[in-house]
Amino acid sequence: MYDVKSMRAEEFISDEEIRETLAYADANKDNEALIDEIIEKAKQRKGLNHREASVLLACEIPEKVEEVYRLAEQIKKDFYGNRIVLFAPLYLSNYCVNGCVYCPYHLKNKHIARKKLTQEEIVKEVTALQDMGHKRLAIEAGEDPVNNPIEYILECIDTIYSIKHKNGAIRRVNVNIAATTVENYRKLKDAGIGTYILFQETYHKESYEKLHPTGPKHDYAYHTEAMDRAMEGGIDDVGLGVLFGLDLYRYEFAGLLMHAEHLEAVHGVGPHTISVPRVKHADDIDPAAFDNGISDDTFAKICALIRVSVPYTGMIISTRESQEVRERVLPLGVSQISGASKTSVGGYAEPEKEEEVTSEQFDVSDQRTLDEVVNWLMKLGYIPSFCTACYREGRTGDRFMALCKNMQILNCCHPNALMTLKEYLEDYASEETRKIGMELIDRELEKIPNPKVKQTAYEHIHDIAEGKRDFRF
Ligand code: SAM
Repeated sequence: MYDVKSMRAEEFISDEEIRETLAYADANKDNEALIDEIIEKAKQRKGLNHREASVLLACEIPEKVEEVYRLAEQIKKDFYGNRIVLFAPLYLSNYCVNGCVYCPYHLKNKHIARKKLTQEEIVKEVTALQDMGHKRLAIEAGEDPVNNPIEYILECIDTIYSIKHKNGAIRRVNVNIAATTVENYRKLKDAGIGTYILFQETYHKESYEKLHPTGPKHDYAYHTEAMDRAMEGGIDDVGLGVLFGLDLYRYEFAGLLMHAEHLEAVHGVGPHTISVPRVKHADDIDPAAFDNGISDDTFAKICALIRVSVPYTGMIISTRESQEVRERVLPLGVSQISGASKTSVGGYAEPEKEEEVTSEQFDVSDQRTLDEVVNWLMKLGYIPSFCTACYREGRTGDRFMALCKNMQILNCCHPNALMTLKEYLEDYASEETRKIGMELIDRELEKIPNPKVKQTAYEHIHDIAEGKRDFRF
């Protein structure tokens, strides 16, 4: 039985409810009156539920789909402005006891190079990341209670926060590790993490069990209920995601929204972010082996529909996607992207050579440097942001949502983005990027509505040029 407030995975992600939703969406995909009604509701910026959003996903009427795209663009502009937050993944260890069939870190893969960073190696990795200009990381690790216990992860987080190289600093560490206990989530919270990210991979229980045949990750309920435990442990920024390609995208999309609705109904706060990874080629993984790959058009439609369905949830696109695809979906509602990512363990300090046995998790499509990504974003009219202020000011969970809902972004996130961009330009940018960025900051400062905030932002930008760092609203 479907129950959004149930704490049991099979009830808040009810297979029966998803099947009924898909049947309802099929039955109504040409029902223009209903589609118009749903689009009207979305225009109120109050989001859509999984049934309504699924109708729009099934709808193929070109004018209606176009209307959804335009609305997604408008909502993105209203809530997020033209800022794009940048981050990088940091792979700590690829030891893993699971059997995930789409991931080369699976236990039976004897071909991949197994590596686990020592604290000295973390210093090297983080120094390399700081020297690029990164301020925000997502740490990644395989699941292995012996090699990567929670104590190891906590020690790594401490090390990362402690490294200060030149003007560099990592100011927010997000964590993408396997589902764990309330007690461990509490420890992560106490270590000062930002978002806890865990991809569901697939919401389809039967497929989930086949795709995760062995290891602790096999337990669908334990995995699906992880975000509830994370919230119980005090983490109020959680990041959802589906690995598109594993099962039918329409099933996953409905499940993803049901999960968001569940978190909102039970904890009073929805997911902080949603990621939309697609299966990629990796060491012993061929994406063609998975039948449910989605086209770039479908991918874009999903991004647009996430934006209109959960307007206050950030959306993340990684370097799994090419420059071209990223460019296409950025205006549809993306708020964060990774840049200059390495998916190998230790790859920032010492990039792996072609002939070496790889430790990479998957192939990266967008291989540009951070400077190239920053430059590109600005040429497209975006403000690359290295801001981490909300989390450091305690604006997490519903407090962040309140900022978003009250449209205070132009008085808060906008100047923060400009100040962190200014730091980047001063410390790390190439000549050309610096020039474009300085002009952009001058233009964008003018858009701050509150005169007092505008004045303070001007002063801080000036102070940054004089060598001061780390201002925030
Ligand atoms: N071991 C943790 C877990 O089980 O959640 C951390 C996750 S892993 C380092 C990060 C994510 O990469 C996975 O959740 C999965 O969705 C994704 N991933 C795994 N193999 C992939 C592949 N071949 N292509 C694209 N993404 C992949």
